[in-house]
Amino acid sequence: MAYDPNNIFARILRGELPCKTVYEDEHVLAFSDIRPLADVHVLVIPKGAYVSLDDFTAGAGPEVVGHFFKVVGEIARITGVAETGYRIISNIGAHGHQEVPHLHVHVIGGRPLGRMLP
Ligand code: 5GP
Repeated sequence: MAYDPNNIFARILRGELPCKTVYEDEHVLAFSDIRPLADVHVLVIPKGAYVSLDDFTAGAGPEVVGHFFKVVGEIARITGVAETGYRIISNIGAHGHQEVPHLHVHVIGGRPLGRMLP
């Protein structure tokens, strides 16, 4: 799938749409989900133009991929959910029910989330 430069998260990155920033550095932005599923629901996105974890892990170098996941862990500590536990989810493509075609990892916590897999 080709990257759509007008997807919602690309527009947030360009400052065309607002977001509630939790963390930002040169390569990564993290912001609150607009429809939170729990007290903490943060989306972590790379600033590069990647549709999903598929093209990201295939195309980005190990330092970029490693830094991204270091930030995911940092978000859990910043928001306090590292203490109690949390869930990370990244929906990929049609079967993964990905709605926004810019790679994002959901960091969800702040309450017991229950069992996800059967
Ligand atoms: P997906 O199904 O693609 O993994 O999830 C997309 C997520 O983006 C959803 O949880 C949805 O609530 C969130 N979202 C969609 N539009 C916006 C927006 O404009 N701002 C923010 N902060 N989150 C959004």
